Amino acid sequence: MRLDKLLANTGYGSRKDVKQMIKKRLVKVNDEIVKKADLDVNPVEDIILCNGEKVSYQEYVYFMLHKPPGYLSATEDSMQKTVLDLLDEKDRVLNPFPVGRLDKDTEGLLLISNDGHLAHELLSPKKHVSKKYFARIKGEVKPEHIEQFKKGVDIGGYITKSSGLTILSSGTNSEVEIVITEGKFHQVKRMFQAIDTEVLYLKRLSMGSLVLDKNLPVGKYRQLTDEELSLLK
Ligand code: URA
Repeated sequence: MRLDKLLANTGYGSRKDVKQMIKKRLVKVNDEIVKKADLDVNPVEDIILCNGEKVSYQEYVYFMLHKPPGYLSATEDSMQKTVLDLLDEKDRVLNPFPVGRLDKDTEGLLLISNDGHLAHELLSPKKHVSKKYFARIKGEVKPEHIEQFKKGVDIGGYITKSSGLTILSSGTNSEVEIVITEGKFHQVKRMFQAIDTEVLYLKRLSMGSLVLDKNLPVGKYRQLTDEELSLLK
């Protein structure tokens, strides 16, 4: 891999910045001062120092984003803002993508990564990874709906798999938590439509073992901790 690309990808500035650092003799590979920005390096085996600091190369990135409403779960869109617009430029260089989709108006946990294998593991229908949501509902959600959701509801030609419904409050408007193990288009909204109610607000709280950090403000993101990552893999 080219040294300038590696350093730019690792957050040491643009390729131009990196060239400047090399010109200033601030970059060493295996104890030798580097003269050429396009030097071919092995990010795993070579010892690279930048300004005296050891460069640790990461092939994969894993971010927990607290998605705000108004952003598409996509990598780019010509008209609308996407969740990648919420990342700093340096965190976009390794081409991460949202692992799964939340509707534009849905908030909450979204994993952003460039690890295609992990994405497959989490999204494959065969893996039945559970996703927990909090929802505010227009209409009364009744105890009988718990049994109905457990058995499966018809969301228009498809009967959902068993899901866990917890009623937090019930009345003209209700508050619930729901755990589903599938990811059909607009699934939660369609499930509540099927019982003649309407989702007014939806927030994802968890995906598999990954739980939305309560201290992460809406619109902000952070790297997964080693523990979060090892539980997820
Ligand atoms: N179900 C929905 O209806 N919308 C989402 O964003 C996620 C699950």
